[in-house]
This record gives sequence, structure tokens and C-alpha cells, in this order.
Amino acid sequence: MRLLLIGPPGAGKGTQAVRLAAHLSIQHISTGDLFREHIAQGTELGQNADKHIRAGRLVPDEVTVGVIEECLARPDTERGFLLDGFPRNPAQAEALDGILADTGSGLDAVLNLEIPDAEVISRIAGRRLCRQDREHIFHVDHNPPEVAGTCAVCGGELYQRDDDREATVRRRLEVYGSETALVLDHYRAQGLVTTVSALGRVQEVLDRALAAIGKGRVAASGTSSN
Ligand code: AMP
Repeated sequence: MRLLLIGPPGAGKGTQAVRLAAHLSIQHISTGDLFREHIAQGTELGQNADKHIRAGRLVPDEVTVGVIEECLARPDTERGFLLDGFPRNPAQAEALDGILADTGSGLDAVLNLEIPDAEVISRIAGRRLCRQDREHIFHVDHNPPEVAGTCAVCGGELYQRDDDREATVRRRLEVYGSETALVLDHYRAQGLVTTVSALGRVQEVLDRALAAIGKGRVAASGTSSN
């Protein structure tokens, strides 16, 4: 199965991407992860991408499309893949169409995770991270530590990421909306978009997403084709 996953910051896209790919036994391909691997390995591509990422810009299309093209040519993607973070604009979507057409294949579905802005802001703006371990994550309302400001797992100091502040989250949502609206239009024209509510528990959203692509055990409530 060849899937594309789209969703705003705070929708749990990364969490769902990993679970969907594992459940469907397909490769999870995240352009952000691919760039981070190149940066860690110090490749020329990584050094180039790093400049753009640090400046808060998108990496140029020719570099990004090249990375994806190389990745999709690997044998481990033959069983299928789930793209996460790509395409981010119509030019990348067209490039992807071309790459897939060359291999005689196409996408099976575009899963669009949908969540109200107010919920994203509450999820992200209330998030607190532990300085000692990034995986120790709390929420001031939904998962508060016993002692405010202190990690309940290791006692580390809790802090709020700069880009998790409300004004910044609103800005990220605006950028996301303008970026993805055109990508969604591109795939709506091909009848590929299925919208799934990202509200609820991780497992509920996963079940909904699987049902929406015809791989679930439960009825596709909370989904719509649009
Ligand atoms: P992410 O982990 O998806 O947030 O990606 C981290 C950074 O990598 C982004 O802020 C961009 O600079 C870059 N990046 C990831 N995916 C793309 C893409 N499809 N096109 C251009 N730049 C990207």
C-alpha cells in the first residue's frame, strides 16, 4: 500500500505514522528524518539541508525530491510506503506523481488528519518537556506532574519549548494551512483524500485511519472522503 499522511503540528502525525507503517508492514518515510540522518552523517546533502532547516525554511525542492526519489528506488519500499512530511507543496506533489508514474504505480490514499486549531493550541501550549530526557513529556492539564515544573519520572526540570508558545503555535498552524491546502487540492482532484478526525486516544485515531483505508476492524466513524 502506498500512502501519504498529512496533519498539522499537534495532531499526533508522527505517532500515527509509526503505528500505521508497522501495522501495514510498509516503510515509514519521513523527509525530516532523512535530512536528520544526512546531517548526522555529515554528508554534503546534509550540510546543505542543515542551513535551510536551521533558518526555518523548507529545503529546496530539487534536494528534497532527490532524497525521496532515491528512497523510493530502494527494494524495501516495494511492499509499500507511508510518506510523512512530503510533499509539502504542489511542485513536490507533481514530482512525486512523476516518480510513481515512472514505476507504473500511484498512491492508494492520502490520509488527512484533522483537528480543530483550539485543540492543537491546548495540546501544544500546555506541553512541558523534561530537560533530562526528551521522552518524558507532560501536559499542564491532561497529564500534570505531581509537583509542578518537576518531571515525575526522573525529577528533571520541566520546560516549555520556545516554538510551543501559543503565538508561535498559531503561526505554525497558519503556515501549515497555507502549505497543505494546495497539496490537498492536488490530491482531491485525484479523488484520493480521506479525512480522519485526530481527536481521541492514539488507538482510536489509529483504528479510524485503518478503517478509512479499508484495513480496519471497526466502522469508519469520524472519517469522510473529501
Ligand atoms: P519535519 O521533521 O517534518 O518537521 O522536518 C524538519 C525540517 O526538514 C523542516 O522544517 C524543513 O526544513 C525540512 N523538510 C522536511 N520535509 C520537507 C519537505 N517535504 N520539503 C522541504 N523541506 C522539508
